[in-house]
Amino acid sequence: MAEYSGEVEKLLLMIERLVDQDARKVFEALLEEGKELSEYDIMDKTGLRGSVVRRSLNILAEKGFVTYRRVKHPEKGRIIFYWSINYDGIPAIIEARKRAALEKLRALLQKEEENTYYVCPLDGTRYTFEEALEYEFTCPRCGSMLEPDEDREIRLEILRRYVSMLEADISGAGSG
Ligand SMILES: [Zn+2]
Repeated sequence: MAEYSGEVEKLLLMIERLVDQDARKVFEALLEEGKELSEYDIMDKTGLRGSVVRRSLNILAEKGFVTYRRVKHPEKGRIIFYWSINYDGIPAIIEARKRAALEKLRALLQKEEENTYYVCPLDGTRYTFEEALEYEFTCPRCGSMLEPDEDREIRLEILRRYVSMLEADISGAGSG
C-alpha cells in the first residue's frame, strides 16, 4: 500500500467514511496515476468490477471529489468518460466538512455548558438535571442513586479544545 502525506491520508479516510472502501480505491487509482483514466483503466488498476467502479465514480463525482470529460470514441462512435481528481473542488468540500463538524461541536458544547448532568455510578448512563429530577435521582435502569457528573469539566475542556482547534484551522485556510 502506498504511503501518503497526512493531508492526503485524511482525505482518503474522509472518502472511506463518506462513501466506502471501493470509492477510496478508485480515488487512489486516480491519485497514483496523476492523469485522467477511463473506467476500464480504473478496473485494471484496482481489480474492481465495472459496476462497482461506475458506482464509486458516480458517487465521488456527485460529492465533488472527481470530475469527468466525455469523449466520443473516434472509431466505435460511443462515448467514453475520462475521470480525474477534482483538485479545484476538493478544498471547498474539506472546508464544508470542517464547518459542519464545528457547528456540531459548538452545539454539543453549548448543551453541555447549559446542563447539569447526573450519572449512574453502576452503568454510567447520563441524565440531565430535569431527567434526574423526574426519576427522583434514581437510575431507571438499575435503581442506583444518581450522582453529579464529575467528568463534566474534563469533557468541557476537551470540547473547547476541539472547537478552538477547528476554528483556527478554518480561519487559517479561509484567509489564505
Ligand atoms: Zn444505573
